[in-house]
Parts: sequence; structure tokens; C-alpha cells
Amino acid sequence: MRLLAVSKTFGPEAVAEAAAAGQTAFGENYVQEGLAKIAALREAGVTGLAWHCIGPLQRNKTRAVAEAFDWVQSVDRLQIAQRLSDQRPAHLAPLNVCLQVNIDGAPTKAGVPPEEALALARAVAALPRLRLRGLMAIPDPAPDPDTARAVFARVAALFAEVRAALGNPVDFDTLSMGMSDDLEPAIAAGSTMVRVGSAIFGRRVYAPGG
Ligand SMILES: *Cc1c(COP(=O)(O)O)cnc(C)c1O
Repeated sequence: MRLLAVSKTFGPEAVAEAAAAGQTAFGENYVQEGLAKIAALREAGVTGLAWHCIGPLQRNKTRAVAEAFDWVQSVDRLQIAQRLSDQRPAHLAPLNVCLQVNIDGAPTKAGVPPEEALALARAVAALPRLRLRGLMAIPDPAPDPDTARAVFARVAALFAEVRAALGNPVDFDTLSMGMSDDLEPAIAAGSTMVRVGSAIFGRRVYAPGG
């Protein structure tokens, strides 16, 4: 089980403190905030961190993300993946990506529809500067753990199906699901990476309008 510490809204000091305690992987939703934090930690001399972009990604932000982050978990269309691959600097390792799946199917939610995940995975796997690592999902909060677990089990089944159809590549090893409030059912259903914010850093306070 890998733990992604979601540091959005918390300052670089909080990241430095978690890093000193041994945490190495951090998740950010907002590109500008993430870039500022990445730079601050680098300036503070903290090395060896892996930064994951887990928020919705717009076309005009792909270059900055390709240059500064190690992972993007929120890829849900080919155009964004293509730009990330084109814009990944040659001196860096390929960018790790997960496909975000819209498992609830709500039309307003981000993520590729489950029935389109395999076609997108095949296309993304062919991009030279990306390394396809798996799937990510953010199901709606469930009324109880059993319901949550059933939804997570659908993501796990899709993960297994896509992985098999791709020929079981060793790189395709990441099923990112589970947050502070639902990490137990997510782990029970086969999550390999939980993304935990408030249970590590405390309650988030958003700026008015933010
Ligand atoms: C904020 C966020 C998290 C962490 O949420 P918590 O409930 O604070 O653990 C995880 N994943 C994504 C995509 C998020 O936006």
C-alpha cells in the first residue's frame, strides 16, 4: 500500500514536516499552488519527493505540469495526455500517469467513462514520454462502507480488465482510490494507493471564493 499525502491548502512547512517524518509522495490539486510548493521545497533543500497532480487539468496548464510534476493521476482524455507527452522535458524520466475513471457516471464529473477506459489506456500507453501506471477514481461519498466497497470493487474489476487487455504490463501497477473518509473500504476492494489529506494534515480551510 502506497500513501499519497494530499497537501493542498497546506503550506510548504507542512510538507517539509511530513517529509522529515519519512513521507515522500505528495498530491496537489491546483497547479499554481503545487508549483509554488515544489519550488519552496527545492529551495529548502528537501530532495527525493514525488509530486502528483490529482486535480482537473486544463490545456493551458499541461506544460507547467509536465515540467514540474512526477505523476498526473487525473488524465481523462487523449488530448491532455498527448500534450503532456509532447511537453515532458527530455532530461526528465517519462511522466507517470493514471487515468481518472468516472465510476459513478454523473455527467458533470471528471473522468473517462468506464466503457471508454480501455481505448484511452491503449492510446496513452503508446505515447513515448508517458508511463501509464493505472487508474484513479473519486467515487461520490457512499452512505455506508458496504456500498462504498461495492463501488470500489467495480473500479478494481475495471483495473484488472484493462491490465489484462494491455497484456499485464508490469508498469500498470497503481489503483489509486480511497481518501480520509473511505480508505478502509477502498483498501478492502484492492486499492494500491490511498490519497489522504485531512487525516494527515487536519481540516482544510479554503480562502473565501477559493
Ligand atoms: C482533496 C483530495 C483528496 C484528499 O481528501 P481527504 O478527504 O482530505 O483525505 C484525495 N484525492 C483527491 C483527488 C482530492 O482532491
